[in-house]
Amino acid sequence: MSEVRLKKGEEDRILRGHPWVYDNEILKVEGNPSPGAEVDVVSFSGRFLGRGFINPASKIRVRLFTRGKESLDRALIRRRLREAWEYRTRVTETGTCRVAFAEADGLPGLIVDRFTDAERERMYLVVQTLTLGMELHRQEILEALTGLFHPDGIYERNDVPVRSREGLELRKGFAGEPFETGIVIRENGLLFHVDLSGGQKTGYYLDQRENRAAIAPFCRDARVLDAFSHTGGFAIHALAYGAAHATAVDISSDAIETVKRNAELNGFAEKLTAVEANVFDYLHELGSREQDGGIPRGSAGVFDLIVLDPPAFAKSRSTLEAAYRGYKEINLRAMKLLAPGGILVSCSCSQAMDLSRFREMVLDAAVDAGRTVREVELRRQAKDHPILYGYEESFYLKCLVLEIR
Ligand code: SAH
Repeated sequence: MSEVRLKKGEEDRILRGHPWVYDNEILKVEGNPSPGAEVDVVSFSGRFLGRGFINPASKIRVRLFTRGKESLDRALIRRRLREAWEYRTRVTETGTCRVAFAEADGLPGLIVDRFTDAERERMYLVVQTLTLGMELHRQEILEALTGLFHPDGIYERNDVPVRSREGLELRKGFAGEPFETGIVIRENGLLFHVDLSGGQKTGYYLDQRENRAAIAPFCRDARVLDAFSHTGGFAIHALAYGAAHATAVDISSDAIETVKRNAELNGFAEKLTAVEANVFDYLHELGSREQDGGIPRGSAGVFDLIVLDPPAFAKSRSTLEAAYRGYKEINLRAMKLLAPGGILVSCSCSQAMDLSRFREMVLDAAVDAGRTVREVELRRQAKDHPILYGYEESFYLKCLVLEIR
């Protein structure tokens, strides 16, 4: 087994559970491992830390998959997937859910989502192998998944830009027999069209499922804005929970087309307006229609509930400042449009933007908007995307439920 020795003092983060070794933390590599091969990682003084895959093409040089001396063979892949599945059966509704969440399930770079087509009673898996180590085990992974789940089909969504950082090409397609990838899933009792081959991510944002359900107490007769709506998950939930009207805004025409189909499907076509627009422009225009660019304190506002669920503005620490301004702008504009006592559900899926920075941004926005904020609830990604302590990257989605006065 080849060996990667760390520089002095570089083992602390890893001993506290972090599964990555960066290129600049390595003193030397012995044994000339091939790209994607298994290596033992040891501290400067020779203490064994774990075993992982090495990838010379990536800044994340080694990804640990175990703290023991085992290999990621067929049996271990199967065991990890079975444990991942058992966890889901305890914490979530499993018809449609995330089955494997990469490092947080001890499978670095492997994502598996399970989708049940509620109309045809079929179950499909969507798989992403985002690291070289996982890519090299693709066949065993697909076999293990078939053995464990007996899916009606598997689709690979490896058209994800992060793969190029691992030196992998972008591709997507069926693993095995083709099937109809336009399906209808059930979530919280509602129906949603999902496009497994062409939709964003693996087709649907499963990480927001619990947060969509969490807006229920604030929807009765509410005027709702679902900004960055994608296929309208929050808007449709709001209408099901008694909202008077919902507006969904997204920049993607495919997403907006699907919002309309989802409104039909759930019987809310008359109460939902779907707008293809840039949310920044949309909020700006709505705001400037009101006097002095905002709603005076005490007026009825334009909305009672606004959901802001933008894409990750901060892809890394270096873009954090620009991202902060982006988040602040949309939060400030949204606050100005809310009735007193209105609810702002403000999300950030940028891992680099941590919770305290995110709250600070909300307060900055409130001060500029001349409003006060109370936090009703602090929420996060759904439980099928568990947060692994010691690995901060696994806590990426923050969702603040805020009351704005
Ligand atoms: N709330 C959604 C997920 C949102 S993902 C759900 O519950 O499923 C972020 C969405 O923002 C994507 O659909 C993307 O198309 C959209 N988007 C990105 N930049 C945008 C912009 N400037 N204005 C409007 N939509 C944007």
